[in-house]
Amino acid sequence: MFEILKVKSLFKQYYVKQIEDLLDTLPLVLKDDDFIIIDQKVFDLFNPDLGAIEGHKHLIIEASEEKKSYLGIQPILSELIEQGFKKNHRLVAIGGGITQDITSFCASILYRGVDWVFFPTTLLAQCDSCIGSKTSINFGEYKNQLGNFYPPSEILIWDKFLETLSEQEIRSGLGEMMHFFFIGGEGDFTIINDQYDSVISGKSTLSPLIKRSLEIKRTLAEIDEFDQKERRIFNYGHSFGHAIESMTLFKIQHGIAVSIGMDIANYISMKLGLLDSTVYEKMHSLLIKNRKKEELSLIDPKELINFLRKDKKNVDGSVRVILTKGFQEMFVHSIDDHEKLSILIQDYFKSK
Ligand code: NAD
Ligand code: ZN
Repeated sequence: MFEILKVKSLFKQYYVKQIEDLLDTLPLVLKDDDFIIIDQKVFDLFNPDLGAIEGHKHLIIEASEEKKSYLGIQPILSELIEQGFKKNHRLVAIGGGITQDITSFCASILYRGVDWVFFPTTLLAQCDSCIGSKTSINFGEYKNQLGNFYPPSEILIWDKFLETLSEQEIRSGLGEMMHFFFIGGEGDFTIINDQYDSVISGKSTLSPLIKRSLEIKRTLAEIDEFDQKERRIFNYGHSFGHAIESMTLFKIQHGIAVSIGMDIANYISMKLGLLDSTVYEKMHSLLIKNRKKEELSLIDPKELINFLRKDKKNVDGSVRVILTKGFQEMFVHSIDDHEKLSILIQDYFKSK
């Protein structure tokens, strides 16, 4: 086990570590009173490596958006209290972003806050959500409406977890990574551009890309932990991405929707005369690798504007998006002219 990153938070300093062997490391990390919350699929797939869990109180959960909700977490809180979980005990999450959000939110409200540790098992959770302190749960059908900021004390990354992910889950993680690498600058873009094909075909390891992705996220998460200013540019691709996820009823995974969203944001930036067409083409040629034709065909361009209008980040009736002037030059932009925005979006889809 070795440290790959240290993150400064207003709550505490916390650590991201890489582990080489789960079977040997888990008993060293777990403390007697730890309570483990683990994704059912992960539990089934990695049972032999997770042997140490059996000696601890644990709860196996289904990683679904329904469970990650205000009502969905009630049985989990009941179980914790009934099983004698105390303020000085720790929660340990093993799973992807859903298991993370459930555990971190429970940890943040239980007894006004208990310590928690995270083993991220999806690429998206390893390269993005595991740091940055955000916790979000759904309220009814409304996604990520409740939450706060509450980082774990330790994040332990095991790359073998990624071997059982579907091709779509890998593309989703890569889409999320791309938005960090484009914000990182042209050098970072070149790294992911050069490695994309070999990573997708399973020929090269993801570890260096995960580390770099977390480093880029850390820079702004440390400056603006509570998402008031600088960190907002991480919404690059996300306003369009969230609208795409909602309108397709989540048939398109988050990171894939974000990579389509970045391409739309870049197209609009180019059409508004902000982004050079050669830079647009460079980014576009990588972004289109991360989606399938059948995914794009699920999107109704005319409807997209209606979903964009509903984004919780909009203010005063204008649609707030992140546009770009090039690598590393993303900025917040409010669009009042919805008609013009709608035409640009429709033009984008006609050109694809
Ligand atoms: P997930 O937790 O939704 O899991 C996706 C699927 O993969 C599930 O079916 C799960 O059972 C399965 N799975 C998990 N690990 C696996 C493995 N190693 N092998 C095979 N299958 C595995 O996945 P996610 O994409 O990591 O998370 C998405 C959620 O994360 C969303 O709810 C999103 O809102 C949230 N999120 C939170 C933050 C944050 O900062 N708190 C950031 C981004 C996303
Ligand atoms: Zn994201």
